[in-house]
Amino acid sequence: MKPKIILINPPLHFSNNIPHSLDVSVPPLGLLYIASYINRYSPDFEAAILDVTEAGLSLEQIRKDIDDINPFVIGITSMTPQIQGAVELARFLKSDPSFDRKIFLGGPHVSADKDFINRYKNIFDHAITGEGEKTFLASVTRLLKKETIPVIQNGEVIDDLDTIPLPDRTLINRQRYNKRESVIFSRGCPYDCYYCSRPAISRKVRYRSVYNMLEEIKQVYAFCDGKISFQDDTLTMNRKRVLELCGGIKNESLKLDWECNTRIDLVDDEILGAMKKAGCSLIHFGVESGNELIRREQIHKRFTNQQIEKVFSLCNKHGIKVACYFMVGHPGETKDTLEETKNMILKSGIDIVGVSIPTPFPGSELYDIAEKKGIINKAVIDLFAEKKLGEGYVGNYPIYIPEGIEKEYLFDIMKSINRHFYLNFKTFWSRFKQDIFSLKRIRQDVTDFFSLIAQGVSSRKPYQNKK
Ligand code: SF4
Repeated sequence: MKPKIILINPPLHFSNNIPHSLDVSVPPLGLLYIASYINRYSPDFEAAILDVTEAGLSLEQIRKDIDDINPFVIGITSMTPQIQGAVELARFLKSDPSFDRKIFLGGPHVSADKDFINRYKNIFDHAITGEGEKTFLASVTRLLKKETIPVIQNGEVIDDLDTIPLPDRTLINRQRYNKRESVIFSRGCPYDCYYCSRPAISRKVRYRSVYNMLEEIKQVYAFCDGKISFQDDTLTMNRKRVLELCGGIKNESLKLDWECNTRIDLVDDEILGAMKKAGCSLIHFGVESGNELIRREQIHKRFTNQQIEKVFSLCNKHGIKVACYFMVGHPGETKDTLEETKNMILKSGIDIVGVSIPTPFPGSELYDIAEKKGIINKAVIDLFAEKKLGEGYVGNYPIYIPEGIEKEYLFDIMKSINRHFYLNFKTFWSRFKQDIFSLKRIRQDVTDFFSLIAQGVSSRKPYQNKK
């Protein structure tokens, strides 16, 4: 029997030994890619996945599963909001002197905060930053041969994405997640939005071939009833490739209902028309501010209000729904610019809105700005990781509050936008038409209604596709 590798998706945190996460509806696609890569290319190893929150495992149950599987090494992935869960789990495992397995840390947090591995070398043995498939497999193979490997390595970027096997979804309990299937057509983002740490993973844009993408869609088609969610950072970066994919979907007569993320300046009438014909029903856009100057100079999203309005109206023309994301409280923000954002949202006619406060994640320009203001630094990250700022991510991880504006004012405007946007006849009528045949969804709508009135926030789970 081949030695095993366990890849673990930790919760945001454990509370009274129960794993907590904001959303467990999306399968851990990054881990599925790494596990499938190992299982395809390695003669030495067999990889398994443990999604802690989905399985509802306590720390002791995770340890028992590890002992049962008896892996050669363990890999834990972590985004910044998950770092409490990753640290708690690794510390629990390493607290037993008889536990002698190496633990690797990977994922977005350590990719952006590389020094984290030095600060936590007592519980994590190695880190792989960026894209993990090739370098993680090479590293564990060397460990098996009793060679030494560096504590931290940059993951080698794979240029030909078709050489990465399709994610093997039999490695997870697929029934337990949202039926809509998550897929990725491309990797990498070359943009420089000031709040985003995605480019710390990879700036180099690569696409799978249309043939390879269609193979995966056909493979998952029956299970998800043709409902697909493209998780790409910016699906339409390569316009030609996306038009080819849309053509391929039509040629294969695949009846799809799909959604994606992209940018306002990367769509036009032609591509939206082709996307609609291929089954696109919803696009997520990050607009971030109603003020052009802030958007251009601070956020580095260099598109105008006129372009935004044009794209909304083109989506409307083609019957594609629009979800838009904004932040309130950018550096340089004033009460007037906040009003501009509110007015843009309320006049936009879009279908879904998400409003948040800028959050300084490592690897982003916003982190550097917030660090200069003393809002965040490595010591604060570690306090967060140790739960010394509080248990859980929401309300405990530092946020950016611009000079001259009070935190309460930002929360009030966020609530006011949500109430004005969602508590109106148009929104309720559209939800009612969608949800009329599902008692569960009607119940959710009622809960949402009261949550918006009482707290000014939606009770629905946050959308995953945040751009
Ligand atoms: S927000 Fe989107 S477009 Fe901007 S840098 Fe991040 S991934 Fe790229």
